[in-house]
Amino acid sequence: MQRNWIHLRDVTRRFEQGGASCAALQGVGLNLPQGAFVAIVGPSGSGKTTLLHLLTGIDRPTSGRVYIGEWQLDGMDEESLARWRGRYVGIVFQFFQLFPTLTALENVQLPLELRPSLSVQRRRQQALAALEEVGLAGRAGHLPGQLSGGEQQRVALARALVRDPLLIAADEPTGNLDSASGQQVLELLQAVHRRGKTVLMVTHDERLSGAASHHVHLLDGRVVSAAPAVSADFEGGRTCGSVNWRSAAE
Ligand code: ADP
Ligand code: MG
Repeated sequence: MQRNWIHLRDVTRRFEQGGASCAALQGVGLNLPQGAFVAIVGPSGSGKTTLLHLLTGIDRPTSGRVYIGEWQLDGMDEESLARWRGRYVGIVFQFFQLFPTLTALENVQLPLELRPSLSVQRRRQQALAALEEVGLAGRAGHLPGQLSGGEQQRVALARALVRDPLLIAADEPTGNLDSASGQQVLELLQAVHRRGKTVLMVTHDERLSGAASHHVHLLDGRVVSAAPAVSADFEGGRTCGSVNWRSAAE
C-alpha cells in the first residue's frame, strides 16, 4: 500500500484483561492525508481511544507499524515519543483536564514552560494569542472553576494549539458540553483544520462527524468502513469488545 501522511499497517494492540489477552485493535490498516479532519466513530469499547493513543504516541502497538509523516512511532522509545508528542501534537480531552489552581492564561502557557529558550514575555504573548484564537482573551485571569464547561474546553483547545502542533487530537471533545458550547468547539476545530492542521477526533456527536473530511468507523477493534482513501486488513482472534472479561476472569 502506498504510504500516506498517516499510515498504519497491520496494527494490533492487545491488553491483558483478567488473565486473558484480548485485542482492542486488530489488524488495522489506515491511510490518511496530512490536513485531514478525521472523525473516529464506533460504539463504546470498539477501540477509538486506543487508536487515538497510537496515532498520538501516547501508546504503542503490540505489533504493526505506525507512521506519521517521516516518523515511525512504533519504533520510538518512551522518551523520544514524549518529545515528539510535545513538539507535534496538541491533545484535547473530554473532561478538559485543566489545572484548577492555575488561571486560563497559566494553563495555556504550561506547555511553553518546556521551552526555556522562549522569554517569559514571549510565552505570555503566545499564550494570549492562543486564548485570542478561541475567543477567550478576556478570560485570561479566570480560574477554570470560574468558567463554563464550554469555556474550559476552549481553554484546553488553546493549550493544545499554543505550541503550533501539526496534529490536534481530541477524544470526545463535546461529550461533556451542552449543544451550543459543542457547536462553538466544532467551529473552532473547523477553523484549525482550515489553517492546515490535521485534526483527529473521536466523537459520538453527529454534527462533528458530519463536519469531518474523513471517517474511520471501528467495530470490535477493526476498521469496518473508512472513507476516503483508507483500507483495512482483517485477521482472526478474540477482541476486547467481544468478551465480557469480568466473567471470563471468574
Ligand atoms: P472506545 O474508546 O471505543 O470506547 P477503547 O479503545 O477505550 O474503546 O477500548 C477498546 C477495548 O479495549 C475495550 O474493550 C477496553 O476494555 C479495552 N482496553 C482499553 N484500554 C485497556 C487497558 N489499558 N487495559 C485493558 N483493556 C483495555
Ligand atoms: Mg474512548
